[in-house]
Amino acid sequence: MDPIERLIIAFERFPGIGPRQARRFVSFLLSQNNAARNDIADSIRALGSATATCSRCHRWFLKNTGVGSTCAVCADPKRDAGVLMVVEKEADIDNVERGGYRGLYFVLGGTAPLAEEHPEKYIRMRELFSRVESDIAAGALKEIILGLSATTEGDHTRLLLHEELRPRIETNSVVVSTLGRGLSTGSELEYADPETIAQALQGRK
Ligand SMILES: [Zn+2]
Repeated sequence: MDPIERLIIAFERFPGIGPRQARRFVSFLLSQNNAARNDIADSIRALGSATATCSRCHRWFLKNTGVGSTCAVCADPKRDAGVLMVVEKEADIDNVERGGYRGLYFVLGGTAPLAEEHPEKYIRMRELFSRVESDIAAGALKEIILGLSATTEGDHTRLLLHEELRPRIETNSVVVSTLGRGLSTGSELEYADPETIAQALQGRK
């Protein structure tokens, strides 16, 4: 396959990017000089060596900002280890931080598609359950906040997790709450403003 086609296919796999946009990206790269292209290629290559996935929350972090295999948030003793917020993607974390949240996180990696028999192929369900179980064993966990988008798939995922978490937590007086109120229907956590997030945090139930 020629490098142009190869790159178009690579860009088409990006979230929200279709064939036309993928072609536009490649045309732009073709219009750049070699130094500019090499700079982009170097940055992509450096992503792999400079970053790691956090062993606790599963977000990507820069190795020089974390402590061993954990990111700075998970390693921070000042965070409230009693509250665990489950979010869809890393971008949600920055936004929730701006809303004043000071608990810990777990990144699910997306939402569970409707009418899909194996949701664990799409989201980190098993990893979430083992995280919850180890937090309960450590005696720290009091509340799990399902910070999922107010979309159809977000609602579906919330119900699914609620059902699966219940038997794991009911004997340990851990509550599951959601950010339902405050987030308008159809909205994604990533795009909600800090004020809305702060309200949703206060109004969680
Ligand atoms: Zn982490």
